[in-house]
Amino acid sequence: MRWKSVLRIGAAVSAVALISTACGEQQSIGGGGEQAPEPEVAQDTQFEAGTTMAELSEAGRIRIGTKFDQPLFGQRTLDGELVGFDTEIGRIIAGGLGIAPESIEWTEAPSAQREDLIERGDVDMVIATYTINDARKERVSFAGPYYEAGQTLMVRSDNTDITGPEALRASGARVCSVTGSTPSENIREYIDEGQLTLFDTYSQCRDALGNGQVDAVTTDNVILLGYVADSDGAFKLVGDPFTEEPYGIGITKGDVTFCEFINEQLTQAQQSGAYAAAWEATAGEAAEETPALPELAPCS
Ligand code: GLU
Repeated sequence: MRWKSVLRIGAAVSAVALISTACGEQQSIGGGGEQAPEPEVAQDTQFEAGTTMAELSEAGRIRIGTKFDQPLFGQRTLDGELVGFDTEIGRIIAGGLGIAPESIEWTEAPSAQREDLIERGDVDMVIATYTINDARKERVSFAGPYYEAGQTLMVRSDNTDITGPEALRASGARVCSVTGSTPSENIREYIDEGQLTLFDTYSQCRDALGNGQVDAVTTDNVILLGYVADSDGAFKLVGDPFTEEPYGIGITKGDVTFCEFINEQLTQAQQSGAYAAAWEATAGEAAEETPALPELAPCS
């Protein structure tokens, strides 16, 4: 565990700074590198009867939706382990409920399925590079934000035509993103309809970029950064982030008590250094700066 990170708490880093630090570095981050610290598992927890916390802690298990194919935030390794900053945040929250990491049931939560998974009650929460926005708040509630990302572009390293979103229309570039994601909507102002290819997951876009079917992949900088770091120099990020993507933890709409509990866990993790340690063992492998926990939004 790298406790030097604790000294850096408070040094908030913008998504722009994060990328300018990390861009161009070639590192292998395959399966998660440094072992994340074991989260603290609360003992003798007492929660008010009828709350989601009481239900979960009594059941002794929690179901969390996350990404399975996004290095740095949520990736399933060959031996079935889930690694990444999102999954570490999940372990921290489970720990606050008295639930040990091995009692978490992970479910894959592709972008377009996140609200459905929560509404159907298939998962207790979704932690999956999940941007908080008003359209989604119609269907689910969000705790957090616990991280601020920003949308950008990934291209093949030998591409010099695509320098940012403004270059996409003129160059006729074929652009890939994911169904049900905010980047797939945001990119439309920069391209014509026929330029956009949508898949279910970002790893499918990454593969399409690798084999020349598309010329660019667009989504959040930290997602693309994971693919760049794993690409052995084949891919690079271009341009500055051009949107704001505050990551929230999706839960059943209107569960204010659970949202407040999660926010309390996030605040404690920031204070104890667990948030920084989780970052450094995961996303911090490719991005130098350790962010501070963003200001939390009121629960509703
Ligand atoms: N943060 C964006 C979103 O929630 C893009 C990443 C993703 O699709 O998971 O739509």
